[in-house]
Amino acid sequence: MADFSIHAARASRFLTAMPILIRSAGLHLLNWLIPPTCPVCHAETSMTGPDGLSGLLCASCFATLNFIVPPVCQCCGRPMDAAEGIAPDGVCEVCRIKPPRFRHARAALLYDDGSRRIILPFKHADRMAHASLLARWMADSGGDLLRQADWLVPVPLHPSRLRQRRYNQSALLCRALSRLTGVPVMLDGLQRIRRTPSLGTLTARQRQQMMRGAIQTRAARRQKLRAARIVVVDDVMTSGATISACVRALYAAGAASVDVLTAARVELPDEIPLSGQVKTPM
Ligand SMILES: [Zn+2]
Ligand SMILES: [Zn+2]
Repeated sequence: MADFSIHAARASRFLTAMPILIRSAGLHLLNWLIPPTCPVCHAETSMTGPDGLSGLLCASCFATLNFIVPPVCQCCGRPMDAAEGIAPDGVCEVCRIKPPRFRHARAALLYDDGSRRIILPFKHADRMAHASLLARWMADSGGDLLRQADWLVPVPLHPSRLRQRRYNQSALLCRALSRLTGVPVMLDGLQRIRRTPSLGTLTARQRQQMMRGAIQTRAARRQKLRAARIVVVDDVMTSGATISACVRALYAAGAASVDVLTAARVELPDEIPLSGQVKTPM
């Protein structure tokens, strides 16, 4: 299906340059000619985004999303389970068992059936306009990290995968976040120097071994990365192996702090024993 939101964004930029009355009439005409639709299910919707043309998520799609809301772990941003109890330092049991490499991580959504309907088409089916939708929620959930950030750095794709996919979804999220917050983007701060297979079927230890040395900072960027406060941006955090490789490389380059902001995250990394239980891999 055509991605009308891209055409809507172009039309909106054209209309922005017009006097306000003409712009308002133009918006009504365009909304009548091309009714705004929900970017997920494509049902017509009366709600439009800030550009006045792109449709917002319809109520039924919105209801399927699980936003991550406080209380969350102060370190990894995982929603805190009331049964688990909240430690005085606000850090969850997972982070105490295995402290992450990053300073703080935050995500807007739980990675589940609802958010997959936005993220998988964004990642694999050219639904690039979903970047602005996700970035608005990420800017809310990661506000504290973004206010302190010097640079947004996307998780890189290997050049061969970038040629296949034609775009890096993490870079699109960075650009959309930068438009909202003014934090500059360093698109080529990190590079993948070795192609890795899909990590989905591997254990946590195998994933870490697979990612070891696969991501490095770009030599020409190291001077800017030194002593800088970095926010690494990705679409989903699952095992955290890829993100850990990014964080390790950035600290090795002398970054002052490295935080992580993703559109979604799994509730609990697999293979982490929590209060005597082991969660099954997701
Ligand atoms: Zn919908
Ligand atoms: Zn935690």
